[in-house]
Amino acid sequence: MAFILKDATYINWKTLEFTRTHILVNEGLNGRIQFIDKIENPAIYDQIIDCRGKYVTKSFAVGHHHVYSALARGMPAPKKKPDNFHEILKYIWWNLDKALDKESIRASALATAMACAKSGSTFVIDHHASPNYIDGSLDIIAEAFEEIGISHLLCYEISDRDGQESISGGLDETARYLNKNQGLVGLHASFTVSDKTMKSAAELMSKFGSGIHIHVAEDIYDQQQCYDKYGKRVVERLADFGILDSGKSILGHCLHLDDHERSLLSKSKCWVVENMESNLKNNVGYFKGEGLGDNIMLGTDGMHSNMIRSAQAAYFAGKRYDDIDFGDAYRRFRNVHKYLDQNNIKGDSENNLVILDYPTATPLNQNNFLDHFIFGFSANFINDVISNGKLIVKDKVLLTVNENDTLKFVREQAEKLWGRMN
Ligand SMILES: [Zn+2]
Repeated sequence: MAFILKDATYINWKTLEFTRTHILVNEGLNGRIQFIDKIENPAIYDQIIDCRGKYVTKSFAVGHHHVYSALARGMPAPKKKPDNFHEILKYIWWNLDKALDKESIRASALATAMACAKSGSTFVIDHHASPNYIDGSLDIIAEAFEEIGISHLLCYEISDRDGQESISGGLDETARYLNKNQGLVGLHASFTVSDKTMKSAAELMSKFGSGIHIHVAEDIYDQQQCYDKYGKRVVERLADFGILDSGKSILGHCLHLDDHERSLLSKSKCWVVENMESNLKNNVGYFKGEGLGDNIMLGTDGMHSNMIRSAQAAYFAGKRYDDIDFGDAYRRFRNVHKYLDQNNIKGDSENNLVILDYPTATPLNQNNFLDHFIFGFSANFINDVISNGKLIVKDKVLLTVNENDTLKFVREQAEKLWGRMN
């Protein structure tokens, strides 16, 4: 299967070079794209899409997402207004994820994948929790993602917060899933993971040649608890379990780090994922890239699925606390492709593309692209999306499922979920 993007302006996502060309797109996990000068025999192609006046570039990927939070928007307020980060988890998120069942996990995954597709992301790294429906939860998410056309790197968030049954459930689900699929070993955060659980997770990481995906020092509480209990800081604790040794490991947030922890991270192969808007929402502090090295990527932390917004937030909110310019914001936005490529993770080849209908009022070229990216770009301009060489969004409409029917199912599940919450 192959199709042509006719008369496109291709923006090379690495060099930002602009090329006027027709683009031949091949389907498949390792599918390539090819520039062609002339369309010799149009009849042999499945489809020819007119891209006159439009921009084509590589699609996006989310470095840290949470399917479990997809049905949270607009839900009733918690019984007690949270006063701090730990209470936000306790009264909001740990109440929501405990109420998730088979159907609401599927609804959450469909909603997440749809939102990602329509915002231009064709790959998602997710961190999932559903303590009362663990076994098989990752398969439900994988299936829903694939139905929409989104590639994925999933994990289950193992934690001691709900007792032994939940710990074993998380470890078993991880082993079961990694036996057959690409994925990571998820841990909630240092403050809810005992040494015994962390050791078991690190063993799974080694056994499957995987990495750990964990929240790190999102709030100062994580550091205080770690020091009180273990006499060391969070990154030092992770280093002692060998978690920083995997180039697949992803550390979410990393807000409250000292110089020694930053140095440990900059010398390691693992990755840090910044989620600026989520940090602003929880009022936990500001991300600072200083001393962390180059392995920084961006996520949404389940707040939304719009990576252009995440990049712009990283730039604007970073102006005061982070030494960030347009180029840094764009590099962090695109670094997720480097992470996926370095680790031989499937689903992010060059045949993952977005077609932007961006009616710019000022000239746009290689030299001022970053200016447009920060001040002009928006997910609203994403007209079409191609995932693994397959057109999944055309003229802003999802082709893989009926959007209205799917959203109706998702809304019904949201209502049922809210009804089950305490
Ligand atoms: Zn998170």
